[in-house]
Amino acid sequence: MIRRIRSAKYLGSPELLDIEIGHDGVIQAITPADKGSFGSGGSRESFTTAEEIYAGGRTVTSGLWDEHVHFGQWAQQASRIDLSDCVDAGQVLQLVSDAARTQAEVIAVRVRGSIWGRELTRERLDTASGTVPVVLIGLDLHSAWLNTAALQKYGFDTAGPSRVVEDECFALVRELDRISDAELDEAVHAAANAAAARGVVGVVDFEMRWGVADWLRREEAGFDALRVETSVYPQYLDRAIASGLSAGTVLGSTGLIQLGPLKVITDGSLGTHTAWCCEPYPSGDFGRSLVSSDELESLLLRADRAGISAAIHAIGDQAASQVLETFERTGIQGRIEHAQLLRSEDIARFARLGITASVQPEHLLDDRAAIAELWADRADRAFAFASLLSTGARLCFGSDAPVAPLDPWRAIAAAIHRASPGEESWRPEQRISLEQALQASMRGSLLPKVGEVADLVLLEEDPHDLSHRELVETQVAATLIAGKPSYLAPSLS
Ligand SMILES: [Zn+2]
Repeated sequence: MIRRIRSAKYLGSPELLDIEIGHDGVIQAITPADKGSFGSGGSRESFTTAEEIYAGGRTVTSGLWDEHVHFGQWAQQASRIDLSDCVDAGQVLQLVSDAARTQAEVIAVRVRGSIWGRELTRERLDTASGTVPVVLIGLDLHSAWLNTAALQKYGFDTAGPSRVVEDECFALVRELDRISDAELDEAVHAAANAAAARGVVGVVDFEMRWGVADWLRREEAGFDALRVETSVYPQYLDRAIASGLSAGTVLGSTGLIQLGPLKVITDGSLGTHTAWCCEPYPSGDFGRSLVSSDELESLLLRADRAGISAAIHAIGDQAASQVLETFERTGIQGRIEHAQLLRSEDIARFARLGITASVQPEHLLDDRAAIAELWADRADRAFAFASLLSTGARLCFGSDAPVAPLDPWRAIAAAIHRASPGEESWRPEQRISLEQALQASMRGSLLPKVGEVADLVLLEEDPHDLSHRELVETQVAATLIAGKPSYLAPSLS
């Protein structure tokens, strides 16, 4: 356990500070660096002992949170083919064909189905893969494309289309995820260590299963790399209530695992043209509402009575409107997950009702093309981060991993630049500042304070000094959870 961090700097400041951490993991004192202390005077010389980190002028800030992940799926993705960099369906079919030659089953993820999904027909997939089952999961997890062998293996109509959507797709993804707990936990452990190395101290896990059991089992086996809030889907709400669990209930013994919010999915996604909108898609369709107002209200009230918070998925503006309306009617405060498109008149309702917009900035890089095709007439209201902040709304950032990689620096850079490095900014009027983007990625203060839990990150450089590309790859020197290192870079050890 680290009791002192010597010679660290606050963001944007040249002053060297010493930080004292109590046995309880809470910051006890922050004072100008002891001039006699090793590593002061801006020297980069640094090392770590059992109780002290000599930070050598590195920048200290609060540890980062990824407020929206599907952790098991993210961890499992390592064994699957990532198709997000493919430029067309032809390239997808080529990769499938190559993989089918050596694998008993081909599972691929992050297919840009919104752009060329129509070209991934059953016949073409069969030609590429023969009798090897092939499942391609869409970037937004709401669609999958299967060849005949996979349609048969997973119980779908083998004469039907290759594409499976929404509930059938969710069920398929769950089926594919059914690996042994031991295999899954091993992958989770590796993914958690990788997250800690990016400065992450906590995640909200929206895995679509009874996560309480998974995380307790992992904790018992020694998991301590991250704080985890494990969410509850409606089918598990009764179980959570019957178990006497409420938001923030500490599960297990380390204090790292807590019950998270109730998650309700109220519409589809942009990529599958199922996000529920006020204006039609070019096809004339308005998307899909998956939960009625009455159902949502009754779920919110049941959760609220049990002290369980709410995180409600809404991507289209009609869906977000319905959720805001239901929050307002019930007087319950919670989060809206995604909030990708909002009616102008709804933007100020977030701050007024105390609703947090839980957004995934990196999606805007992936969705630029789809927005141009499907939401061109309303693009000024998509990913409207600056508008939300200007009304006083609270933003929090996530990756929605495996939709985007679990790496908060990618989200931070995407929110600031609204472009990939080297690209022109998309809707630059909605760019936000580095401070705003960092604050949306942490639960503590930008400049950590006495009395806060020592969930801290030490950065090799002050992000103010980094180019766009360098910001995406921000180098983390150390990550601490309540004073205990979950990651130490070679430069500090
Ligand atoms: Zn999600």
